[in-house]
This record gives sequence, structure tokens and C-alpha cells, in this order.
Amino acid sequence: MTADPVITQQAPTPTELPATVRASLSPSRAADFKTCPLLYRFRSIDRLPERPSVEQARGTLVHAVLERLFDLAPAARTPEAAGDLVPGQWDRLVTEQPELAGLFPDDDPAAVAEFLSSASALLGGYFAVEDPRRLEPAERESLISAVVDDELLIRGYLDRLDVAPDGALRVVDYKTGGAPREAFEARALFQLKFYALVLWRTRGVVPRVLRLLYLKDAEVCDYAPEAEELVRFERTVVALWRAIEQATAARDFRPRPSRLCDWCSHQARCPSYGGTPPPFPEPTATPDPLRDARSTPAPPGADE
Ligand code: SF4
Repeated sequence: MTADPVITQQAPTPTELPATVRASLSPSRAADFKTCPLLYRFRSIDRLPERPSVEQARGTLVHAVLERLFDLAPAARTPEAAGDLVPGQWDRLVTEQPELAGLFPDDDPAAVAEFLSSASALLGGYFAVEDPRRLEPAERESLISAVVDDELLIRGYLDRLDVAPDGALRVVDYKTGGAPREAFEARALFQLKFYALVLWRTRGVVPRVLRLLYLKDAEVCDYAPEAEELVRFERTVVALWRAIEQATAARDFRPRPSRLCDWCSHQARCPSYGGTPPPFPEPTATPDPLRDARSTPAPPGADE
């Protein structure tokens, strides 16, 4: 699918939101609650820090390179050009997120070189499934949002949106994780449906294709959503939000162990692993249910 440029959808600022909106939800946080309510609490309410893993850092780096690749003229979007972008993008990320530097103690040059090489290998997986010289994305890493049920702002970052000459939309998500795909596929599809719902509600068009690009395996997974399905999905998202509100009011977020626990940073505080959660944070004097709408959601690649 080639793409015509379109005007980037700007997410509304909190002051532009309808007065009825009283909360916001990103696909990552919604998927957290669906996966494990306690994980949602640790990340969204306790806001416990998570040290980035090498795998997450590699995902962020590959996403950054693929975004910049499309700044080049089409003919210049070669595997060599993508490889050339890797070191500079890594330097930029480390400058912007100094905690990434801590992944490689003492700046071990061999470890950094191996890491950069592994990112280049993932980019090789990208070129095995797409030819970026034939693509002109309409949007990259764009923040999109929509209000559903009058009260809930749903929003998140798209990796890439392609728009065909006939207006058909294709949402593309790059998956860079090395974990078994089946462990994360339901979560990835949930995220893509979330974006499809936002696009449908803001543009009146159901995306024709939701595409997952698994770079490690060099595989493509396409999914074609339907309007009726997105209506049901919207009800699911609103019900999920109500469940989050109820759990917050009751301060009751239970662990739900699964295969995804292997990738959880909070096992030491999880009762399922013999840990104890910290005391539930007391509400501030002026609760701000739109706090998440005033902050920036996780950028692409951060949730790999
Ligand atoms: S370890 Fe598993 S059950 Fe515990 S909080 Fe993390 S994801 Fe939930």
C-alpha cells in the first residue's frame, strides 16, 4: 500500500477536552489491567520505576531507526542506510534517557557493539518483509486520541499509519521482542484494535488492515477489523475502565499469574511470588483523574 500524505491527527490537550471527560486510558495500561490488575496498580497507581531491559532498549532503538528511515528519500531507504542510523540514534536515546547507559556498565565497548549489532539484525528482519522504498507513511509515532462513552479519553502512539489513495488505512506495529510470540499476541492485537477504534471514532473509517511486523521472525500478521467488532471492543474498553475505577475505589488489585510474569519487573512485590505490595498510595488533596492525559504515554517500542 502506498500512501498519500495526510494531516497528522493531533491529540487534544486537556484544556480542549469536553468537560464530560474525566479519565484517560492508553492501550498499554488497559492491557496491563486485563493481563494482571496488580501489574496495572504497580505501574499506574504506585508508579513504581522499572529499569529498562536490554530487550526494551533494543525495541526503542529499532523503532527510532525505522521512524528516521522514512525521513530519507525513498531510494535511499536501504538496509545499509538503516544500519548507518543505528549508532547515532542510540547516542540520541542515551542522551535523552540517561538510564539506558546503565544497561552497559563501564560503557563496555564490546557489549555496546554487540547490542548495536543485534539491533541491526532486527532491522534485517524488517527489510525481509517490507521494502520501505515503496512506502510513504502518512504518519509515524503519532499520538492519537478519541473520547468514548463521553467520559473516557483513549489515546496512544501509532508506530506507523499508511493511507492508500482510496483512503484505506493500514495501522502498522513493529514487534521487536524476543519473547515467544504467543505470549504477547493477544496483547498486541488488543493494542491494535485500540488504535483502530480511535481512528474509526476520529476519522469515520474502519482501518482496512491492522498489521503486526515481527522483526525477529521476519513475519507479518495482518488482521482486518470490522465495524461491529469495534463497537463490541469499545464496550469492552469502557467496561475495563469501569472495572479499574471499582478496583481503585476498593483498593483491590489482585495478581493474576501467567506466562507474562516472566517479563514482570515487580515479582519481588507480588504476593504470587511471596512478596508484599507497598501501602496503597493515599489520594492527593486534589485528585486528578486526568493525570494520564496531562502526561505523555509511553513512546513506541517502550512496551515491547
Ligand atoms: S508477577 Fe505476575 S502476577 Fe505478579 S504483578 Fe507481575 S504480572 Fe502480576
